Amino acid sequence: MKLKFCSLYSGSSGNCQYIKTENATVIVDAGLSGKRIQQGIENIGEDPKKIDAIFITHEHIDHVKGAGVLSRRLDIPIYANEKTWEAMTPYIGTIKDYNIKILNGGAQIGDLFIKSFNISHDAADPVGYNIFFENKKISLVTDTGCANDSITNNIMDSDLLLIESNHDEDLVMIGPYPWPLKKRVLSEFGHMSNDMAGELISKIIKKGTEIVLLGHLSKENNFPQLAYKTVESILMENSIEVNPGVRLDMTFRDKASKVYEI
Ligand SMILES: [Zn+2]
Ligand SMILES: [Zn+2]
Repeated sequence: MKLKFCSLYSGSSGNCQYIKTENATVIVDAGLSGKRIQQGIENIGEDPKKIDAIFITHEHIDHVKGAGVLSRRLDIPIYANEKTWEAMTPYIGTIKDYNIKILNGGAQIGDLFIKSFNISHDAADPVGYNIFFENKKISLVTDTGCANDSITNNIMDSDLLLIESNHDEDLVMIGPYPWPLKKRVLSEFGHMSNDMAGELISKIIKKGTEIVLLGHLSKENNFPQLAYKTVESILMENSIEVNPGVRLDMTFRDKASKVYEI
């Protein structure tokens, strides 16, 4: 049995990642309306009623918008660490007590083990996730302004990696954001640039074996071809072959990625 992964939506306007095995289905983040998330799942031929758990990375609205609605409508538990629960409660509304799950490092859902690790972002206690299934490992890391050693070690040896490629630094500088917001995006508690993503992938890649998906692109300060080309050229500078070689793909703000089986 394989694990299915699909990025239903990824970007500054909403995030939701879908993971399914024979006996477990989880989503990571629910940052669009409940309706759009259900539609996204149906569009890839799956059943939203089968979601066993929602895992939250941090309380920003592009990660939690539909979490409360989905939990209430489909009776799904939500997993987040304590500080994230405190911070997101005003945005997601009342959740049934038994669906409030305080995540303390990791949780087993069917045959999936989901482990959180700290990232660097301006939220209460933001995390990335590793998802372990049999001998496979998926890593999800977005919304981080830097890639410190701990993050780097946590995403090492992944079979599939979704990594933030949020912005082009020059586009941020010449773009429409007011200065405080530019400073925030570019800070170590902001978001990861295309260049940073390229450098980090180069550091952790095992030749020819991984799938790397670029995600959480900014609408104002990036575009897919630029993110892809920037990362691809950094990998090639580091003698890493891409397509064929590393499978480098995009995720999208408003539609699902390919469905990957690992
Ligand atoms: Zn975000
Ligand atoms: Zn965020």
